[in-house]
Amino acid sequence: MKYKRILLKLSGEALIGNKNFGIDSNKLENYSNEIKNIQNLGIEVAIVIGGGNIYRGIESETSGIDRVQGDYMGMLATVINCMALQSFLEKIGCDTRLLSGFNIDQVCEPFIRRKAIRHLEKNRIVIFGAGLGKPYFTTDSTASLRAIEIEADIVLKGTRVDGVYNSDPEKSSSAKKFNEISFDDVYKKNLNIMDMTAFTLCKENNLPIIVFDMNKPGNLIKIIEGKKIGTLIY
Ligand code: UDP
Repeated sequence: MKYKRILLKLSGEALIGNKNFGIDSNKLENYSNEIKNIQNLGIEVAIVIGGGNIYRGIESETSGIDRVQGDYMGMLATVINCMALQSFLEKIGCDTRLLSGFNIDQVCEPFIRRKAIRHLEKNRIVIFGAGLGKPYFTTDSTASLRAIEIEADIVLKGTRVDGVYNSDPEKSSSAKKFNEISFDDVYKKNLNIMDMTAFTLCKENNLPIIVFDMNKPGNLIKIIEGKKIGTLIY
């Protein structure tokens, strides 16, 4: 296998699936099966899920809610998604642990780096909830920092597009996909892959990223096997 320990980032928005809001169970079920397939290979899997299907702190600025308060609401939204995913994973027999960036002891363990690594070594899927537990960050930054902390081999950013393009493929039919691209070229071309904090953390710590289509069954396992799926940023 090409990778031994991975950090999978899923956006909250992807969980909406065919619904207008909230969580589409079919989506969670599909994702859980894909994740189980790689866990069965002995791959150590850590997961960060966003909260955009429920709440984003940035929305608070137009809704009269204080920004910092809004960010904590966003972090709570991620915990809801994490709990839903945990439930689906456990239903199909995966051992999991949910670790939170802030204290919410009734439903999550606190994030302790050494504990997280120990869980992974025991082949438990580790889900990181509540982001970094601090406002003004995103779950992409959470994915980058947690991946560095647990010494993951790669960040796999599952999206609804199949990689990084030179322009938005959902808007322009002439958009060209990169099979791989360096961190420096991403800066030069001003491509939007993650927010700058998240992206810079990966670059400065030589942590590669693969952006890929998580909705295509089998993609995740193919990446683990070393097949060229999505876009590699190195
Ligand atoms: N958030 C935060 N600190 C963190 C992680 C998340 O304040 O460390 C808040 C922030 O308001 C963000 C929201 O949680 O908008 C939901 O996460 P995100 O927008 O990253 O979710 P995604 O876009 O991946 O669905």
